[in-house]
Parts: sequence; structure tokens; C-alpha cells
Amino acid sequence: MSLIKVLPDIVANKIAAGEVVERPASVVKELLENSIDAGATRITVDVEGGGRRLVRVVDNGTGMGREDALLSIERHATSKIESVDDIAKITTLGFRGEALPSIVSVSRAVIDTKRKDDTFGTRLVIQGGVLRDVTDVGLETGTVVEIKSLFYNVPARRKFLRTDTTELKHIKNILYDMAVGSPGLSLSLTSDGREIFAYRGTAERTEMLRQILGGTMTKLMVPFDISIEGVEIEGFLGKPETARNTTVHQYIIMNGRAISSRSIGRAVRDGYGSTIIRGLYPVFVLYVETDPARIDVNVHPTKREIKIHREFAILNALRESVALTIQSMPAAPDLGRERSSFIDYSGSARPVTVYDLGDRWQHEVPRQSDSSAEDSDTQTVLRLARLETTAPPGDFPARPAGVETCYDSPRFWQLKDRYIITTVKEGAIIIDQHIAHERILFEELLEHLKGRQAAAQQLLFPLVLDFPAADYDILEPMIPFLNRIGFGIREFGERSVMVDALPAWHKGGDDGSILAEYIDEMRVHGRITSGYMEKLAAAVACRSAIKAGAPLNQEEMRYLVDKLFATSSPFVCPHGRPVIVKLTIEELDRRFGR
Ligand code: ADP
Ligand code: MG
Repeated sequence: MSLIKVLPDIVANKIAAGEVVERPASVVKELLENSIDAGATRITVDVEGGGRRLVRVVDNGTGMGREDALLSIERHATSKIESVDDIAKITTLGFRGEALPSIVSVSRAVIDTKRKDDTFGTRLVIQGGVLRDVTDVGLETGTVVEIKSLFYNVPARRKFLRTDTTELKHIKNILYDMAVGSPGLSLSLTSDGREIFAYRGTAERTEMLRQILGGTMTKLMVPFDISIEGVEIEGFLGKPETARNTTVHQYIIMNGRAISSRSIGRAVRDGYGSTIIRGLYPVFVLYVETDPARIDVNVHPTKREIKIHREFAILNALRESVALTIQSMPAAPDLGRERSSFIDYSGSARPVTVYDLGDRWQHEVPRQSDSSAEDSDTQTVLRLARLETTAPPGDFPARPAGVETCYDSPRFWQLKDRYIITTVKEGAIIIDQHIAHERILFEELLEHLKGRQAAAQQLLFPLVLDFPAADYDILEPMIPFLNRIGFGIREFGERSVMVDALPAWHKGGDDGSILAEYIDEMRVHGRITSGYMEKLAAAVACRSAIKAGAPLNQEEMRYLVDKLFATSSPFVCPHGRPVIVKLTIEELDRRFGR
């Protein structure tokens, strides 16, 4: 008897599902691709429970006849290629004939579909890959695919799903990709009955940009196009000041397919050179069109990555062309949003010594090198806390009540404008000034989030800010919490907010970029596993804390150290990094061989 057996299709499909269907968003992606391949111009997506309970995709595409409908759920059944050679010149989004059979093998599915000239449509009812029922059904031309209880029969997979919110976020990102990739298509999403996203198809690419990136960002995008060796690239490059610490606002559409490509992302980034500071990424949308034979989309199960033949030449040309475009842009007035604002936290529950160093303080802080930075908006302003004055301004501040003496001499040294050194009984401690301030702010913000409302300062002229869709998704749930820490933010139309107050501790005249920074921080730092409020407090603290590179004087250093030791855990920052490094006399003695 042979040991090797050919797997039944139903097992093979479940295995394939493991590659193609990672989460509800993968279902949405595959179904949308099928609808687009079927020529749909309008697609609605409804999900429930982050897509795990339900994903329904309704399209107005060609639909299928009964025979095709039955074939569509068979393994390796596709209408899109006939031979191996066809793979090399693929123009559709799908071609493997794997998606539908895989998806229906791990869910309970209903597929309704009707062609234009048929009187009745066909309904297929499938459970765990087994066809249960085939009937006539009345519906409009097009296809409705309903996927329920995803992974109901694959508990191991179900375990890897995240919260509904996270799954929904992945689904939204798929829709943004699709809208950018097929701007002419109208696309909408509801989640648990609530409308989440409605994109109106348009022939105008700038109108597409406005719907995806928001009006403010769109105004800061410049058109771009090059043609190299039969590869046409066109799209939009964000001006350097739009750069962000995330790549979510980078879209690469290759022959109509949204892809990720580190190498293309890198080439564009390199083209920006030093116009954006290290660690930030440019915003861009690029449409790459090339002979399908030039690229291989069959290298990745979800086709997210592709291989480009002779990529090197293209990347070089891309980098140079981006550089030329960037150089010919008018110089940005406000490069690099580096900001060192020492937060003045007047709402703190803990008694804090007041002092305001005023001009003297500002005077010690170097202005930003940019020559246009003369106005007060862009110059670095550092302020310290006021409150319950016990000492006149400029005097050595009294210690916060109840703080134990942690250091044995009131002397501080600053190393590289970054570390504070002071002595303690056992030796010396070295404190990271940014992280220390972050820790202090974190606790103060948490107090406000959990209790007393922070003081706010009304703005004379409220700001109206609009955001890219991918940002607004993150900002929206933050709004009530930001309002607790002193912002005055209201939803104001589609993906826009009105800001009419800033926290009292906030330096005035902000252009809203601070909100973008908080958003980025919330997006990238999932490291805090506790609640949402902790995460938000950490994000705001990180972005508002004094930066490394700001010179501090004795009083400021002492203030930081005092406040740090008054926190509940001075030794670790909200992200888990150490705040204090201790160097004991014993260790020094050992090192010096005493
Ligand atoms: P592929 O897209 O790789 O061909 P799928 O398993 O995703 O494979 O789909 C199988 C086939 O079912 C497709 O080739 C297409 O002919 C048909 N099909 C799937 N979805 C739709 C749809 N929404 N409208 C019309 N035809 C569809
Ligand atoms: Mg497909």
C-alpha cells in the first residue's frame, strides 16, 4: 500500500485558504478583486463583527450563469487564464482560481449571481466547502457573495483574529487601496449597519486624492510622471512638509493592482534626500503601468508583492526623477516638525512649583536653523509649569510635596543635551530627559483621562482640519479623550474636525500637525497592551515631551528629576524603555581595578 495519498479537494482548499485567507480583510480583498474583474462600477461591502460574522460584497458586474457559478467554487476553476503562457500577460486582478473555493471552505457562504439576459439568477448555498443547495433567485444583474462565520471550522485560525476594530481597520485599508487603484469605481463600506466609508467613483485623480487623503493634503501634492524603458510612472508626490512617520499614505498601483514594494518606496524616499528628516516617510501615490510580461505577480499568495524584471534601472531613474521634482518645488516654510515644548501642565492634581522662566528660558534655546523660522510659530519655545507659586519666577523651585530626596547633591550635568546626570548615595544616575518627561506627562494625562477634566485655552480663530481617510479612522475614537486632556475638538463634516481649544499646557499657534503626530503615534505604538487610555496618554506624552537636543539649565533639570521621582514608576517609560541608568560606586571601583 502506498503511503502517499492525493488529498481530496476539500482538504486541499482548506490548506490553500491558510495562504490566501488570513483574516476577514483577505476575504474582502479577494471578493473585491473578483467584482472588479467582472467589470463592476459600483460595489458595496457590508461587514459585521469586524468581518468575522459577515462579509457581504454586492457588485453590478457581469454576473455568472448557473454552470459558471457552480464552477467558480471548484478548485483551480478560473475564467481568466487558459494556459501557463497567459500568466505572463495577466491583466486581471485574479487568475489562480483559488480564492472562492478557499473562502467557501472555511465559512458558510451564499452566492447569488445573475447575468443581464437571464430571467433568474442562481443561488448557491455552501457550508464548509460542501454545496448544500442550488436554487433560482431573483436579483439585479451582478453578484452578491455573503461569507458568514469565517473560520467556524478552523478554530486555530480563529484564534489569530484580533479585535473587531483591528479587523475593521484592515478591511478599510483594503478599500482605500482599491479606491486608489480603481478611481472610477464607486465603493462603500458599512460595519454593523453603520456607514464607514463612501467613495464616489471619479475620472479625476485629484478628486480621488481629495476623497482619500483629504483636501489639505491634496493641496500639498504635486503631479509627477516619468517614462523609463517602457515603464510609465505617474502620480503625485507630497511636498516634504507632508512627510509622516508611517508609510500608510504611500500608494503604489502597478497595472491597477495595489502592491507594496520596499524597493520602490526606498527609491522615492532617497529622491527626497535631506528635504525630509530621517525616520519620516514621504506621502505619495504612484501609478506604474508596464507590459504585464515585465512583472511577475505570481510570487506571493495574496499577490501583494511582485517581481519586476530589470528593476534596478527603473529604481535609479525613479529616484533621480523624484529628486528633480522635489528640488523644483518651492521651499517649505516649516521643515521638520521638531518641537520641544516643555509642557506646562496646569491641570495636574499634584502640587507643582510654579515658575515661568520667560525670556531667559527662550533665550537659551537655539532657534531652528531654518532662516524663515523668525515668527513665534516655528521658533522653539520651552515653558515650564506655573501653579501655586512658592517661589518667585527664576528662583530655585521648591520640591513637590511628599517627594523623597533621591539624589544627595543638588547638582546636575547635561550630557549631549540629552542626558541628565546627578549623584545619589550609591553613585550616579543618568536620566534620559525625553523619556523622563514622557513618563511625567503620561501620568498626568492619565489622571485627566480617568478623572478631572484638564484646563483648556479657547482659540480666537477655530481651526478646521481635514485628514486622510486612514488618519481619520484613528483620530475619530481619540476625540472624546483628547477633549478630556484639554483639546476642544468637534467632528465637522466628512473627515474634518473643528478645533476651538487647545490644552492649557499646549503652546499656541499650532497648525494641527500635532494631531497628525498623535495619530501616527497611535498607529505605530501598539506596544502598550493595556487599555486605550493608556495608549493614548503614551502617544500624547511621547509627542509632547521635551526632545533630546534641548539644552536645560540647573533648575529645569532639577524640575524634571523631582517630577520624575514623584511618578509611580520613575524607572520605565510608558513604552517600557528604561528612564534611568544607575552607575554605582562599587561598579566604578571594580572597573578601575580597586
Ligand atoms: P480567479 O479570480 O483567480 O479566477 P476565483 O476563485 O476568485 O478565481 O473566482 C473563480 C471564478 O469565478 C472567476 O474566474 C470568475 O469567472 C468567477 N467569479 C468570481 N466572482 C465573480 C463575480 N463577483 N462576478 C462574476 N464572476 C465571478
Ligand atoms: Mg479571484
